[in-house]
Amino acid sequence: MPEEYDEELLSHLVQNGFIWGPEPEVYNGLAGFYTYGPMGKLLKNKVEGVIRDVFKEYHFYEVEAPVILPKEVWKASGHLESFVDPMVVCSDCEKTFRADNLVEDNTEIEAADGLSDEKLLREIDENDIKCPSCGSEFEDRIEDFNLMMETSVAGRESYNRPETATTTYLPFKRYWRFFRKKFPIKVFQIGEAFRNEISPRQHVLRGREFTQAEGQIFLPPEMKNDWPQYEDVKDEELPFWSAEMQEDEDDWESLTLEEAQERGYIGSDAYSWSVFVAYNLFTSVGIPKERIRLREHKEDEKAHYAKEAWDVEIKTDSFGWTEVCGVHDRTDYDLSRHQEYSNESFVVRDSDNNKVVPHVLEIAFGTDRPVFSLLDIFFDEKEGKLEVPNHVAPLDAAVFPLVNKDDLPEVGEEIFRQLHDRKFDVEYDDTGSIGKRYARNDAKGTAVCITVDFDTLDDDTVTMRDRDSEEQVRVDISELGDRLEEWLYTDVEFEGLGKPVE
Ligand SMILES: [Zn+2]
Repeated sequence: MPEEYDEELLSHLVQNGFIWGPEPEVYNGLAGFYTYGPMGKLLKNKVEGVIRDVFKEYHFYEVEAPVILPKEVWKASGHLESFVDPMVVCSDCEKTFRADNLVEDNTEIEAADGLSDEKLLREIDENDIKCPSCGSEFEDRIEDFNLMMETSVAGRESYNRPETATTTYLPFKRYWRFFRKKFPIKVFQIGEAFRNEISPRQHVLRGREFTQAEGQIFLPPEMKNDWPQYEDVKDEELPFWSAEMQEDEDDWESLTLEEAQERGYIGSDAYSWSVFVAYNLFTSVGIPKERIRLREHKEDEKAHYAKEAWDVEIKTDSFGWTEVCGVHDRTDYDLSRHQEYSNESFVVRDSDNNKVVPHVLEIAFGTDRPVFSLLDIFFDEKEGKLEVPNHVAPLDAAVFPLVNKDDLPEVGEEIFRQLHDRKFDVEYDDTGSIGKRYARNDAKGTAVCITVDFDTLDDDTVTMRDRDSEEQVRVDISELGDRLEEWLYTDVEFEGLGKPVE
């Protein structure tokens, strides 16, 4: 299936300061690198704020590890050997392409990343797939292309991390002491990772540089089915699309976590709970439930380290169902490998005094994906508005003086300061007609506009206007912060926030 870029959306994102690129634009751009402009960065911060909050709610602690690590680490982690994509080379122009993407784009096959090299070559041959750039044939071989970006530090061959996960595992013994030798240990990292994608596509969904958010749970294997928090979530219904369902139906089923386990889709209580946390991360940032499903990896799709693997998928308007997050049972793969390669023991004693190399359950995703999904889902092309949920609106409010005289600007600036001091993201705008200022802020997704007018000077009230309904109410300046907070973070009716405006 060829990807479909929504040009209208992309130009909206460029013009309203969300996402620019590929960068460096002034030097013709390099695919897969983007700048988040002022509005994009505010939105991304909001989304990452929610992600931090959800992880912390479940007792994960944030850490920050290095981005670059020497070759030994990536040899041990398996990335040097296995973190590869199948690449074909044009026999004429020598451009390189991902073989699986070419097959997906030119055949009925929707997921070709699990196919063998032979099968990929056969599909390219049988479907007469030619170089998209010059129309020539491909060379009759697949190359394993390693996605890690190499660098050199003090003469040592090193790599930019392709995921945060590995870098989170390395200080395990430090965690063990810090968390007083008690399982489970839950940590997360939000930071940059790099993948030298052969042909980056799908905008920031598959950049070469991106931000990852990964939660890691260290636990002894027997704790996977001795996980008390499972009781709190086992009756939650989630949209499961198991490998078995994918064989013969095009649809998923709403099942409780307990039912999913009874059917054998999920192997443990702790893994179930991790799947729930992952799902909850995406509903919490504001992705509508009907656009989320959980898809199980088929046997041949699983990563080199994964025993159980489910993805969270979001239905975007631009690209259809899109993978946004992986939940993996990585077993003791990582710590065993690092133990072997580093000669450092990662054996510890569990609560029954048994010696164990801890297992890891992981929730892994790029934060660019929920950010792009929000922009894609909530952009109203007809109105030119970005109707993202209030709690992640890039700007909480914009403050306008009706005119630039008679003390209105001073009152406006004072309101800006008051809201800023309460940690709201606010903008002060005194340029152009009120109608233009509304339209500008609707396009940027600002949750409410606050206007200071001549009545303000008499009765200390201002109008608050809701972006989506365009309704207006009058609110006392002294109550503005509280009303705004209610509107952004609770489920109130807009007209209940103040006096109606005729
Ligand atoms: Zn070519």
